[in-house]
Amino acid sequence: MNTPSLLILAGDGIGPEVMGEVKRIITWYGDKRDMEFDVSEDLVGGAAYDAHGTPLTDETMAKAQEVDAVLLGAVGGPAYDDLDFSVKPERGLLRLRKEMDLFSNLRPAQCFDALADFSSLKQDIVAGLDIMIVRELTSGSYFGEPRGIFDLPNGEREGINTQRYTTSEIRRVARSAFELARKRGNKVCSMEKANVMESGILWREEVTWVHENEYPDVELSHMYADNGAMQLVRWPKQFDVIVTDNLFGDILSDCAAMLTGSLGMLPSASLGLPMENGRPKAMYEPVHGSAPDITGQGKANPIACILSFAMALRYSFNDGAEADRLEKAVEKVLADGARTADLLGPEGGSPISTTEMGDAILAALDASL
Ligand code: NAD
Repeated sequence: MNTPSLLILAGDGIGPEVMGEVKRIITWYGDKRDMEFDVSEDLVGGAAYDAHGTPLTDETMAKAQEVDAVLLGAVGGPAYDDLDFSVKPERGLLRLRKEMDLFSNLRPAQCFDALADFSSLKQDIVAGLDIMIVRELTSGSYFGEPRGIFDLPNGEREGINTQRYTTSEIRRVARSAFELARKRGNKVCSMEKANVMESGILWREEVTWVHENEYPDVELSHMYADNGAMQLVRWPKQFDVIVTDNLFGDILSDCAAMLTGSLGMLPSASLGLPMENGRPKAMYEPVHGSAPDITGQGKANPIACILSFAMALRYSFNDGAEADRLEKAVEKVLADGARTADLLGPEGGSPISTTEMGDAILAALDASL
């Protein structure tokens, strides 16, 4: 296979700061593990708007379609709040997701032991937690037609969104969840509202079809999404992989993410269908935004962006061993007490900078050799 290609779109605010640390880690892999990447960089979001009057140029979009994986920092900021909706920074991100057809959004909720006190839940409920939420990202009620706000003859107004799914849309995201489960704890829990929604009945039937016909070796259970929300905060360790639709996934993944503490710790991956070389279309990004309140101060926690790169190693480059190495390096620096400002509890302490956190992770990577 050719040298794997990466397109880095650092974006706005703290995006370039946290991505700076990822770039050092990519260089480390080239120097110390003989893993070369063909890296190119481009603009997205407000940075692209400033340079080109659009949050994503056609050229950048075309590059994103060609590479093995896109690494994205963050987009947005107060300078762009008053722009027309069509050129807002977030439109760049949405265009990437839509045109690359990234239908499977992976949001891990993993609690590093050193940060277990950070959760709003009791320590024993979250310590060692490692679950993965797979959210369908390109269909369902955020895209379904008809949609809109309509005037009714009686003078009232009516707001409509349509929850709709087709067989193929459900089957492809279900496959993605079963594949992941095989690499983890081999369990999938599918969540919907089949008790009150036809789209939920179809979801349950199609996930069951994929299970019976293609993944009978994986354990499958079904849960109504409202019960799923309760179970996530009651005893989250009962889950391995959760697969759910766009709307429920939006809510459940935010809920699960907060089990683990800081926004600065949360990575994500969005995957599409396999390309000709067998790798999935893919974009990796931290869950957090551009954090304008701390931009340019060296305070940003780079771990979410670094763990997003670890996901790229695992899911685009099929290198679980190197992904483990990077995740363990992060775990080690946290266990040793390294904390950016967002990871300090109410008792305070002395925070380290973005670059110092990068230094510590690189040192832990060196120590792993
Ligand atoms: P945000 O995630 O940028 O920040 C929320 C809070 O978390 C802030 O106090 C911030 O300082 C803190 N924070 C976030 N990431 C951090 C990190 N890595 N290290 C330390 N602290 C961190 O969300 P927001 O303030 O609601 O939005 C700011 C801008 O980002 C808006 O323009 C919004 O539209 C955009 N946004 C972009 C994305 C994305 O690019 N995917 C996601 C969410 C928000």
